[in-house]
Amino acid sequence: RVEKVLSTVGLPTEGEVVKGVYMGAGTWGGSGEIIESICPSTGEVLAKVATATAAETTEAIKRARAAFKTFRKVPGPKRGEIIRQVRNAIAEHKSALGALVSLEMGKILTEGEGEIQEYIDICDYAVGLSRSAAGRVLKSERPGHQIFEVANPLGVVGIITAFNFPVAVCGWNFAICLAVGNATVWKPSPTTPLCAIAVTRIVAEVLEKNGIDGAIASLVCGGVEVGETLVSDKGVDLVSFTGSERAGQIVGTKVQQRFGKVLLELGGNNCAIVTPSANLDLALRTLLFSAAGTAGQRCTTTRRLFLHRSIESKFLPAFIKAYENLQNRVGDPLEASTLIGPLHTPAAKDAFYKALEAVKKEGGEVLVGGQPYTHGSDALKKGYYVLPAVVKPVSPQSPLFQVETFAPFLSVAIYDDLDQAIEWHNNVPQGLSSTIFTTDMREMGKWISEEGSDCGIVNVNVATSGAEIGAAFGGNKSTGWGRESGGDAWKQYVRWASCTINFTDDAPLAQGVSFE
Ligand code: NAP
Repeated sequence: RVEKVLSTVGLPTEGEVVKGVYMGAGTWGGSGEIIESICPSTGEVLAKVATATAAETTEAIKRARAAFKTFRKVPGPKRGEIIRQVRNAIAEHKSALGALVSLEMGKILTEGEGEIQEYIDICDYAVGLSRSAAGRVLKSERPGHQIFEVANPLGVVGIITAFNFPVAVCGWNFAICLAVGNATVWKPSPTTPLCAIAVTRIVAEVLEKNGIDGAIASLVCGGVEVGETLVSDKGVDLVSFTGSERAGQIVGTKVQQRFGKVLLELGGNNCAIVTPSANLDLALRTLLFSAAGTAGQRCTTTRRLFLHRSIESKFLPAFIKAYENLQNRVGDPLEASTLIGPLHTPAAKDAFYKALEAVKKEGGEVLVGGQPYTHGSDALKKGYYVLPAVVKPVSPQSPLFQVETFAPFLSVAIYDDLDQAIEWHNNVPQGLSSTIFTTDMREMGKWISEEGSDCGIVNVNVATSGAEIGAAFGGNKSTGWGRESGGDAWKQYVRWASCTINFTDDAPLAQGVSFE
């Protein structure tokens, strides 16, 4: 099975060390540490990967900058044509890449393919952008003058990504960078190098076929020293970082210290509120995926659920029953009947059980789930599976409501008044995604207004997870304020210049100032 998935994306299957560093000119290398890509569903080693050293990372940045100087002059529509070819090449390999995501990250097959579709969608969007990214012309207060706001490419963008979307998140950045004329250097998560290598191989082939220096899509697999080099090198104009709040705070501070640009997409602590007027069946079906899907490893996973007291006795038993049924659908992510795959690492599994212990220790209840996973085959027993849990912490003030446990771990609280629920909702450090289940127009109106959710994503009767690329994606507060995808995201990847041009022989000053 492993051989089949690896071979269909052109990766070696004979134990050969896979080269994880690409910086153009058709050459692949990596003289840093050899790391192992581990399959979370069985614990087996998928491949050994040669990573970049700090010096190779610096070299990749240099080459990307040199390639940028040529690439920035390629006309936008021509860049769009290249994106179209990247899109088509990725689409051709959609099922193979989807299976690789499933194998290496652990999400189920349909979600693996969905992630590749997201890459395709953003490419489609970026093709249009290559012709439509526009500046502005403004009326000047000075006669015979005009002001132009011009968008030029920024330079080199360092893309640092998390394990949970090992392909799509790079795509959100890379496709936009191609459209506006930037070069990129990508550092994927050290636990998902194969996804990054497979995608970069496809992209590199398209670029090189078009006579474009592949260094504009450089790849540096590796760990801490690779990330730190990307973050501190002044040759990287923008660092687009996706990951935990802890790492994002370090990265954000370091990049700003050297006056670089940083775009942060960090952790979420996403909440759903179910009101008395809600369609409870819709809420139940939606929340199952939103809270337990992807084994709780989406940044937008629902982690908190606030139920109105009047519906607690009707909704909660049905929800717990549905969760009980889900427990039998935990298993091999490559099997069509599976709904929930494993956690990504043993450390994530430990964090899940620690959170369960913390609930019990503070006197809260585990309503469902959390028992050891025993029903898989012997091979699967070595995987990092857990049974999705719903817990009721001792009170809405519990510290358990403040942190992101990156696992299928949902905390429930009961509220009496919507204003109170919204206050609890906003009283956490993170501000990524949120939703309310209601059929009451007044409740909807309040929720999306200045009195409502303080998140970057504010849904109604829709899961907190599962965003589309058309709208801005990102969160506020400790989620980092970054926005990727959507109509305006590209504006962060360019260098804006305000150009006032005098078409006359007079020299009037702004604000009516006289200097004669
Ligand atoms: P992570 O441990 O923070 O790692 C993310 C990436 O950052 C990895 O490539 C990691 O590589 C690198 N990194 C860590 N510390 C760094 C440093 N000091 N300098 C440079 N790079 C550094 O996160 P994860 O466990 O992979 O992903 C889960 C987290 O990502 C969750 O909190 C989730 O909510 C968040 N996430 C957010 C979004 C969003 O759009 N808001 C999307 C997806 C995931 P090394 O480990 O090799 O250093």
